[in-house]
Amino acid sequence: MRAVTWAGRNTVEVRDVPDPVMLNSRDAIVRVTSTAICGSDLHLLNGYVPTMQDGDVMGHEFMGEVVEVGPGVDPARLSVGDRVIVPFPIACGACNACAAELYSCCENSNPNAGMAEKLFGHPTAGIFGYSHLTGGFAGGQAQYVRVPFADVGPLRIESDLTDEQVLFLTDVLPTAYMGAEMCDIQPTDVVAVWGAGPIGQLAMDSARVLGAAHVIAIDKEPYRLRMAEQAGYTVINFDEVDVRSRLLELTAGRGPDKCVDAVGLEADHGSPHVRLYDKAKQTLRMETDRPHALRQAILSCRSGGIVSVVGVYGGLIDKFPAGAWMNRSLTLRTGQCHVHRYLKPLLQRIERGEIDPTRIITHTFPLDEAPRGYEIFKHKQDDCEKVVLKP
Ligand code: NAD
Ligand code: ZN
Ligand code: ZN
Repeated sequence: MRAVTWAGRNTVEVRDVPDPVMLNSRDAIVRVTSTAICGSDLHLLNGYVPTMQDGDVMGHEFMGEVVEVGPGVDPARLSVGDRVIVPFPIACGACNACAAELYSCCENSNPNAGMAEKLFGHPTAGIFGYSHLTGGFAGGQAQYVRVPFADVGPLRIESDLTDEQVLFLTDVLPTAYMGAEMCDIQPTDVVAVWGAGPIGQLAMDSARVLGAAHVIAIDKEPYRLRMAEQAGYTVINFDEVDVRSRLLELTAGRGPDKCVDAVGLEADHGSPHVRLYDKAKQTLRMETDRPHALRQAILSCRSGGIVSVVGVYGGLIDKFPAGAWMNRSLTLRTGQCHVHRYLKPLLQRIERGEIDPTRIITHTFPLDEAPRGYEIFKHKQDDCEKVVLKP
C-alpha cells in the first residue's frame, strides 16, 4: 500500500510499504478514505520528538471503512463494512485511566511506555503514527491501518455526513472543545485563545458554543487572523502589538477571564529555541527564551481565572511564571485530549449544525501529494490552515 513515511528531519516521503496485518483478536483493519495533517505532526517533522525512524508511517487523524475485524470484537460494536472515525489516542477501555475516562492516559496501550518514562520522566499512552515513544504504531496517512482495541475507539458514522464533516472528531475538534470546556465558561466570560491554527479556531467556536460573551484570537499570521475575524472574533496580531496591554485594554484592565493555549511548542514558529537532547543519557531538556504563549497566557489572565493548555509540550519549559500562577489564584488545566469522551456529544453538535469543522479546511490533496501538504502547512504558505489527504 501507499503511505506517508518519515524520512529524516523535515522530510516525508510517500512510499510503498507492506499492508498492515491483524496482530490481536481485538484489532481491526480500516481502509482509509480521509486523513489530515496536524500541528502535532510538525513536532515529528521538525525532529523534536527524537524517536521517529526512517520509514515510520505518519498520521493520527483518519477515518474510513472497516475491512477486517478480529474475533475478540463484539459484532454489535464493530463489523466489516462499518464507516468509522478513529480517535488518535489508543485506549484499552479497561484500565484505571480508561475507567476514569482519561483515555489519553491509558495504562495498557503503549508497549514502549518505559521509553517515554526514561525520555520525558513520565509514561504516555499509545498514539497512532506518533513515533516509538508512543508505541511505534503505524499511522493513518496511508491506504490501510491496523486499529488496536477496535471495540473501544472507533465511532460508527451512520448518517450521511461527509468525511469532511466528521474527520476532525478524530482529534482537532475534541481537543479544541476540551480546551474550551476546561475553562468552565460563564455567560460573561472573555476568552482569549493563543494560536489561530486548526485547534485555536475550533477552540474559539467551542468557546462560543459554550456561551462565552467575547472571544479573542491571538496569532501573527494575517490570513489565520482574518479567518478568525470572519468567524466573528476579535483579533490581536502579536507581531504588531503588545498582547498583554491590548488584552488589558479589551477587558477594563483586568485581563481575560479564561485563556486557552492552542500553540504549545513553538519550534516551528521562529522562536529562539534551544533543544538539548543528550543522546547518551537519552534525556531531553528544552528551553525557550522569549515570552511564549503559555507564559503570556498566565501573565495576562485575570485573578482567579483559568488557563487551559491544549498546545502540546514535552520536556522542560524554562521561566514558567509560578509567581503569577500562585499569587493570582489561577487554575491551570491541561491534557492530551481524551477524545473518546467527546465523540457522541460532538457528533450531535455537528449534526445539529452548532459547529461546522469544515470551515478550517483550505486544501485537499491525493495522498501522493502529502509532502506538498506538509510543506505549505508548516511554512504557512498559500493561506494553508488544514490539509486533508485522500488515499
Ligand atoms: P498550528 O501549528 O497550525 O497552529 C499553531 C498556531 O500558533 C500558528 O498559527 C502560529 O502562528 C501560532 N503561534 C505561534 N506562536 C504563538 C504565540 N506566541 N502566540 C500566539 N500564537 C502563536 O497547529 P494546530 O494544529 O492548531 O495545533 C496547535 C497545538 O495543539 C500544537 O501544539 C499541537 O501539537 C497541539 N495539539 C494538541 C492536542 C491535544 O490532545 N492536547 C491534539 C492535537 C494538537
Ligand atoms: Zn492531530
Ligand atoms: Zn486503558
